[in-house]
Amino acid sequence: MNKRNNHILKSLMLLLVLLISLNAVANSTEKGWYTDYDKALAEAKKNKVPLLINFSGSDWCKPCIMLSETIFFTDVFRNYASDSLVLLNLDFPVNKKNQPEKDEMKRRDALAEKYNESGVFPSVILIDANEKVLGQTGYKKISPLAYISHLKSLLIGFKYEIADATPDKSELRETYTMMGARFEIVAIDRDTELAQKAINNAHSEIVRIEALISSWNENSQTYSINTNAGIKATEVDEELFRLIERALKVSKLSEGAFDISFASIDKLWKFDRTMTELPDSVYVAKSVSKINYKNVILNKENLTVYLKDKGMKIGFGAIGKGYAANCAKKIMTDLGIKDGIVNAGGDIIAWGNKVNGKPWKVGISNPTKQSKFVSFLQVNDMAVVTSGDYERYSIINGERYSHIIDPKTGYPSKGLVSVTIVCPDAELADALATTVFVMGEEKGLALINRMALIDCILINDKGDITTSDNLDLNFVDPNTTEQ
Ligand code: AMP
Ligand code: MG
Repeated sequence: MNKRNNHILKSLMLLLVLLISLNAVANSTEKGWYTDYDKALAEAKKNKVPLLINFSGSDWCKPCIMLSETIFFTDVFRNYASDSLVLLNLDFPVNKKNQPEKDEMKRRDALAEKYNESGVFPSVILIDANEKVLGQTGYKKISPLAYISHLKSLLIGFKYEIADATPDKSELRETYTMMGARFEIVAIDRDTELAQKAINNAHSEIVRIEALISSWNENSQTYSINTNAGIKATEVDEELFRLIERALKVSKLSEGAFDISFASIDKLWKFDRTMTELPDSVYVAKSVSKINYKNVILNKENLTVYLKDKGMKIGFGAIGKGYAANCAKKIMTDLGIKDGIVNAGGDIIAWGNKVNGKPWKVGISNPTKQSKFVSFLQVNDMAVVTSGDYERYSIINGERYSHIIDPKTGYPSKGLVSVTIVCPDAELADALATTVFVMGEEKGLALINRMALIDCILINDKGDITTSDNLDLNFVDPNTTEQ
């Protein structure tokens, strides 16, 4: 009897869960999804992207609900689709209450006959603007990113059709690992040879910069500066001299919150999640005494750099990727590339427009779940650079210690978990992101609000999001898709 009751109870619970989820889907108005075939097709034609048709049964088909909840309604998929697809949901509910008017139901039936002969639900059909079927799939128990890759594999031929139809621009994209980060370089042009050349040259440029500023490469000028600390001045290229000069300006502006001589302490901390104990406070105090940007002595006449204290060290971790992104962009624009992106490990500079002529959209990662975004920004000729506590860290006694050091204490900075700076210059954005991270919410925000043409998005350890006074101008709701 007990067993039977248990069984009934379990079945009831299961039914309840199912009903709740069915109801959730039936009620959710899917933002960014068309329900009208003709409108969706016209949009696909206009944007020169494929149309994805989802044949679903929102109140009876469990895999349909799973497909929506685990793939289609995720930020990752929404973000991908907003650039690359037009989405059409053709729902076939059994419950009368959920059904559209008769004529619409008839239209959907006709479309199902045309594209979903098998009658399988869910059925995902990709078509082009000429209504040619490009691919067909359904629900898969995989991650949104894997599903996107799967869709892309079905769409491989699509690019060429666009290229044939319009003698328009096309997009080239390459990724590399440099400066310990993943770089992505995108060039858009009618001339694909030129785009490829621009990407290659930009890549070489970043390799060159890495060789100049790396503090562990024994052949770099930065390495010489560090090994000669307290001994003698090192003559350097004007390029490195100017970079250090600019870094010191940010130090001055931030009263030492940003300090490239933070590196004097970098042996004490390891932010690769292997550290299990805090460093000895005596050593921390000793190393902190070596951090002082005022002891980086520059001689303009001879172009020399001298670190006054023995044991002092400089490092460009907080500014180098932004600098490299600026330089790579310059190489490309000098070659005539009017639309492109350099993404230096998440530090982004974008100029011109996307291949479909719309503005670039940059997602701001959610610090607690990086596959999700807290927002998107539409940008044109702008850098968007984020410093996050999730990038490199170690957990010690259950507490997170991340890679941005407060030069005053020698310990990782606390309070903010993500700082995004938006301004036209990637190097400045990079330096300021680290600066604000150390300065904290109040002082950091005040600094950015004082500066023209520079904006920020701050997220603190409680998850509160604050933006600078002028940012709402380009703030885009993460749920909207471009139309
Ligand atoms: P970012 O991701 O741009 O904020 O740079 C973080 C990196 O900058 C760290 O991994 C360190 O290499 C370096 N860094 C840490 N603290 C500071 C600081 N207070 N000033 C300048 N550079 C720092
Ligand atoms: Mg930085």
